[in-house]
Amino acid sequence: MVEPLLHFAVPFVSLRAFGLDLRKVLFASLVALTPDLDVLFQVHRSQSHSLIVLALVVLPALVLTWNRKGLRSLVLLGAFGLFAHLILDLFQTSTPLLWPILNQSIWISVMLNFHMGSAPLITGGATVKVEPTVIEHFTSFDEPILTAEGIGLSLVLLAPTLGQILLSRMTLNWRERKLPTLVEERVKHAKNTKPR
Ligand SMILES: [Zn+2]
Repeated sequence: MVEPLLHFAVPFVSLRAFGLDLRKVLFASLVALTPDLDVLFQVHRSQSHSLIVLALVVLPALVLTWNRKGLRSLVLLGAFGLFAHLILDLFQTSTPLLWPILNQSIWISVMLNFHMGSAPLITGGATVKVEPTVIEHFTSFDEPILTAEGIGLSLVLLAPTLGQILLSRMTLNWRERKLPTLVEERVKHAKNTKPR
């Protein structure tokens, strides 16, 4: 399972690269987490991971909001978040991407190994694995929700935005503290230079 932090960070950074508003990006990144909420119903990588099912949700929402620009852009952003989730899962494990049209789960597995012996050698490659989709209730769930690798990657991805937020907060605080002092100084100066 791709951990939640990465499901959040990847669409976040991808959309921020387009210079989108932070609140909109935050919205899309939170929507990107929703397919994995299927675990609350004791199933995992279920119908919520199907492009067909998501299209059945997104397309009517798009039609209903088509003439309302603000809402329409939220639907499109949410759709991007969902799509990003499915793509990340697709490269991690079996995903029922086209359920129920195709009752097979797909996993694009990529692994390249570099061997350095008497001569350099690269082995492995990319394979598309397909296996029957089984969506059934689990009795126990055992998946990592946070890994060191995920934390490191997310930190690198989110650092520019976090830094930007921190910097703008600090600038704002400085202005808030400095502005009254500047005004006081101006008033004092005006009083002192008043013609008598
Ligand atoms: Zn997932």
